[in-house]
Amino acid sequence: MKDKYGREIDYMRISVTELCNLRCRYCMPEEGIVKRSHEEMMTAEETLDAVKAAVALGIRKIRVTGGEPLVKRGIVELCRSIAAIDGVEELCITTNGTLLPQYAGELRAAGVDRVNISLDTLREDRYGYITRIGELNDALAGIEAAFEAGFDKIKINTVLMGGFNDDEIEDFVKLTIDRPLEVRFIELMPIGGGMDFDRAGFISCVRVLESVPGLEPLGADGEDMVDGVAVMYALPGAKGRVGLIRPISCDFCEGCNKIRLTADGMLKPCLHSDAEISVKGKTRSEMEEIIRNAILSKPQMRDTLDAENPSHAGRNMNSIGG
Ligand code: SAM
Ligand code: SF4
Repeated sequence: MKDKYGREIDYMRISVTELCNLRCRYCMPEEGIVKRSHEEMMTAEETLDAVKAAVALGIRKIRVTGGEPLVKRGIVELCRSIAAIDGVEELCITTNGTLLPQYAGELRAAGVDRVNISLDTLREDRYGYITRIGELNDALAGIEAAFEAGFDKIKINTVLMGGFNDDEIEDFVKLTIDRPLEVRFIELMPIGGGMDFDRAGFISCVRVLESVPGLEPLGADGEDMVDGVAVMYALPGAKGRVGLIRPISCDFCEGCNKIRLTADGMLKPCLHSDAEISVKGKTRSEMEEIIRNAILSKPQMRDTLDAENPSHAGRNMNSIGG
């Protein structure tokens, strides 16, 4: 359905758990988060009801995220059930990839269409630093497992951080030469642990084009080619592509087509607002009404967002579902 400003809302991101097996510095606190009681969190049945209610209102694309979705017990079954819902045209998952060697094949068989894998560095020591507890090899094995399982259009999400990985831009872009990967650089957002970064951490995605001048825009006639929220580029002759996602230096509220559902059942009409409406414990028809109202309450635009003006999201990204 359309919101008040004429935007067609057809995409719902669902955080299926707040928990994670990593502790990325821009996302989660070092000590992790306190595990909440089962009663507070959405059951699988409630999540499926919410998807059915959303589909009745025109949602067509679902992204399962977290926290780390692959640490959730029953994740494969949940994905299978979501994929089987009439009207779900695309089911995607965003993961840190470390558990894909275990789950990629099963997820593919369960009907997951696409995977996005988050990877901010190709250097072992830096991976250990930014994730606090992760091993680079696990994430790299996850990418291979996704290919072996037959996923195509695999996307690598790389949060660009000044002074941390801006000297690796070219290395990431080179990954697209021989493989049909899409590397997507995302500007760091002042949200969750991202608020602890100093100004130098927040660099514009324009830095990617400065570092790799050979990147060519994929749009025709001087127009940007936009895929979701990414503006697309590629190296000439490369099998893969490069996307720039600029939540800070560009704002894409005008084209926003999504709502979010948190693991504790809160609908978030806008990532950068603390407005939330609970669907936990509601019947499917009540959920439909709540989702309709949530869509109609989407703000036209977020407030200013930069290093000095943090997001009003009111939660860490692991809890919202990035
Ligand atoms: N655990 C999964 C993962 O890492 O892909 C899914 C959840 S994670 C919250 C989803 C995405 O949000 C990741 O790509 C992560 O890099 C991104 N993210 C988290 N905090 C962020 C921040 N402050 N700024 C920009 N992106 C952020
Ligand atoms: Fe976990 Fe993803 Fe957050 Fe990293 S970005 S701590 S992998 S939820």
